[in-house]
Amino acid sequence: MRYRWPDGKQSAVVLSFDFDAESGFLFREPEKAKRSLADLEERRFGPRVGVDRILRMLDRLRLRASFFIPGWTAVNHLPQCTLIRDAGHEIGAHGNVHEAVGSLDAAREKAVLEAQLAILQGQLGVRPAGYRSPSWEVNVWTPGLLKAHGFLYDSSLMGNDVPYDLETADGPLAEVPVQWLLDDAPLFRHVYGATNAIADPGRVLQMWSKEFAAMHRENGCFVLTCHPFISGRASRVALLEELVLAMRRVRGVWFATCEEVASWHAKQGRAGALMPEGGTEA
Ligand SMILES: [Zn+2]
Repeated sequence: MRYRWPDGKQSAVVLSFDFDAESGFLFREPEKAKRSLADLEERRFGPRVGVDRILRMLDRLRLRASFFIPGWTAVNHLPQCTLIRDAGHEIGAHGNVHEAVGSLDAAREKAVLEAQLAILQGQLGVRPAGYRSPSWEVNVWTPGLLKAHGFLYDSSLMGNDVPYDLETADGPLAEVPVQWLLDDAPLFRHVYGATNAIADPGRVLQMWSKEFAAMHRENGCFVLTCHPFISGRASRVALLEELVLAMRRVRGVWFATCEEVASWHAKQGRAGALMPEGGTEA
């Protein structure tokens, strides 16, 4: 066994959703955001339609997921965020206005982190255990900041495909790793001038199924990252449901939230995990 999962399970599966709404666009292109209704509306599909459709799918499956929500989204789309919380899903931090932290110094990043914690607490009464960095940008000092602010885990890095540790001055921070292969944006999002085309959901189902099957053999942690404004489209929610139903037919799969995976890692896995060859270098 490469990694020891609870109750003798062979692998873990997490469905995660980054509920950006308009926030990433507002941060990245503030001038364009003042006039481009088209860009804003593309992203408003998430709170207007996608979240509800995804929540209904998760309810049909009786499956808890992890939602990473920027502070801006919590303030501006509070009813949808409240529905997510009240359905029992995990809520994690995801920036304030989806700030890509690669452009921030440590002091500014700390201020942004504290602002988002205050918003999630104030709007939703949530103290998140986990953090997913906007656009998966992480600075070398970010894990230390997260640990100092009481986070259990980060879920933004690609250094392994089982949970691992990021060393900080205050001890290890669990990492629940992500990867581009399991992100909906490069597959489904239309971007003018980009090389990607809109993928056939059937092809994506096959690709994600193959990755799941192979990771299951490898005792991996299959963390899928989707966005309500992208994957909230009807055929894509259907794809997610079909994928989960297929994965449930496989024995020994632990369906969990990121927080449950990180808690397991901190309590048991960290001590009990058998790390792959090459050690924990990350
Ligand atoms: Zn995001």
